[in-house]
Amino acid sequence: MNKIFVTKSFLPPKNEYLEFVDKIWDNGQLTNQGILLQELEQKLKVFLQVENLHYVTNGTIAIQLAFKALGIESGEIITTPFSYVATTSSILWERCTPIFVDIEPNNYCIDPDKIEALINKKTKAILAVHVFGYPCNVIKIEEIAKKYNLKVIYDSAHAFGSSYLGKSLLSYGDISTVSFHATKLFHTVEGGACIVNDKNISNNLDLIKRFGHNADEHVMLGINGKQSEFHAAMGLANFPYISQLINIRKRISEHYDALLDKRLMNPLKHNELEYNYAYYPVLFRSESELLNVFTALNKQMIYPRRYFYPSLNKLQYLKNDIKCPISEDISLRIACLPLYTDLTHDNVDLICQIINGNLLH
Ligand SMILES: *Cc1c(COP(=O)(O)O)cnc(C)c1O
Repeated sequence: MNKIFVTKSFLPPKNEYLEFVDKIWDNGQLTNQGILLQELEQKLKVFLQVENLHYVTNGTIAIQLAFKALGIESGEIITTPFSYVATTSSILWERCTPIFVDIEPNNYCIDPDKIEALINKKTKAILAVHVFGYPCNVIKIEEIAKKYNLKVIYDSAHAFGSSYLGKSLLSYGDISTVSFHATKLFHTVEGGACIVNDKNISNNLDLIKRFGHNADEHVMLGINGKQSEFHAAMGLANFPYISQLINIRKRISEHYDALLDKRLMNPLKHNELEYNYAYYPVLFRSESELLNVFTALNKQMIYPRRYFYPSLNKLQYLKNDIKCPISEDISLRIACLPLYTDLTHDNVDLICQIINGNLLH
């Protein structure tokens, strides 16, 4: 029997990838804003309906570039404890202090009503996450940011393909960052992007991602965040499949919805959201129930993942000790079920049967 992991990368037909690779041989340019990269950036801008987009090495460097481009070099960053570790590690790597605000229990995103109490003179920005592709309360966050003159960065690693209030979720905030890692819905093997609202900040970011210099004129401190033509080729080969991928994931998600025990039904719902079906999270009623189900699934070589565990405010290398009871509780009980394009109907039947049969009480 084949192992079933939480995700499996989509691969385009090989010949379609190789057609783009042929162009690399024709041009002889392997990296440094080559023509395939420019073509991918252009396609992504049109797809997302955004003005400024920079395709970069990965979704983590994208967050760090956002800090640099916004001139944030120290101070406190209001952020969420319920995310992948890169959200918090980016803050620390940029020598800032993460200030964790607890999440909303029904969408797992930062709770905007708890932000203001933690703002002080040292606060520079809000770094929030559209968890599993569901929107943060972008309206309230923007209001708070305006009131206190804070920057807003969205780690939109999960949000590619989701639209909210009629526009891409990636169009909100001063800068929105996305990951195109192999495990994400749309991928370029490794990769990421920064979507920047202000043209000047966008120009800064463009310079910073390529060592901060124009020819011999060294303008600012930079780093190497450039992406290669081979990665852009994978992006271009995957690009035509985006809506097909989302549709297949939608079908699989609806199959889970129909079969899973209703006591596990996901609370996530939103009228104004056009969802990308990036993940299928399930909230168990206790950690012991989750572990019981995991043991049963693992016996059948099915491996869901504990996204996200632990709650990031509990990372052992953090100095401050901030309590986030909702995030800590949900982190203990939540998991993402397998969701990828060639997951079969029968696979989902089996997974649901095992889960439903191994719930406690
Ligand atoms: C995947 C992910 C990242 C990091 O992206 P990489 O491209 O792997 O560096 C950051 N934040 C979140 C929420 C993620 O899921």
